[in-house]
Amino acid sequence: MESADIVGRLRSAGCVYAEDEARLLQDAARDATELHTLLQRRIAGAPLEYILGWAEFCGLRIEVEDGVFVPRRRTEYLVAQAACDARAGAVVVDLCCGSGAVGAALLSMLDRAEVHAVDIEAVSVRCAVRNLVPRGGRVYQGDLFEPLPAALRSRVDILVANVPYVPSDEIAMMPSEAREYEPRVALDGGADGLDIQRRVAVGASRWLAPGGRLLIETSERQAPQTVAAFERGGLVAHIAHSQELDATVVIGAAAGPIE
Ligand code: GLN
Repeated sequence: MESADIVGRLRSAGCVYAEDEARLLQDAARDATELHTLLQRRIAGAPLEYILGWAEFCGLRIEVEDGVFVPRRRTEYLVAQAACDARAGAVVVDLCCGSGAVGAALLSMLDRAEVHAVDIEAVSVRCAVRNLVPRGGRVYQGDLFEPLPAALRSRVDILVANVPYVPSDEIAMMPSEAREYEPRVALDGGADGLDIQRRVAVGASRWLAPGGRLLIETSERQAPQTVAAFERGGLVAHIAHSQELDATVVIGAAAGPIE
């Protein structure tokens, strides 16, 4: 099949970056038959990342398989904010880690970071192991803080979490690539989208080191409620926003001792 033909078919299927996608699919396919299969899957609407088996994130190739949350470009802002002012040897915990993209990016950016990542889903843990263990990270399966070693209490410098935060009623309005292909558990944050964020914020202070920070991705609209959840967890919080990436992160630190 000619490149122009592939581009044309992708474009008619609604792929905005048809040239780039055509090139990636051609690189991924071993022969014409495989290229045809990959192209059919893409035209039927499967996310490009599932077809390729990887997503680009912070300049890294992050392995993804069907059913894992696909790392979003906007989440690079969470990484940038987490990396800001990090000390050498920082202890990092990534909750609801999905493919492990955030932890992998932090391992590649920070000097001698110790990264622990947790997810409740077996498919995510499997991907996170592939993305993190070769880079020196550790991965646990379980619910939020529950599987973390007790030795990490009061030792975490950077606690990052891109937890599901879409309000249940708004899942139906998401792009079909998310709605039809990603698991609901990776998107659904309950009635107002804040259920899991609240649980993380309440649990954070017993894990954070003195001066440690909690960073959670949220939406611009939900950010004030995310801040309120941090405050109920005993943290002092502020909102950081990137226009360019359409990304919002709430950052909190334990309130200092009262003098
Ligand atoms: N709105 C976000 C997205 O699809 C939802 C991500 C999430 O729930 N973590 O990018």
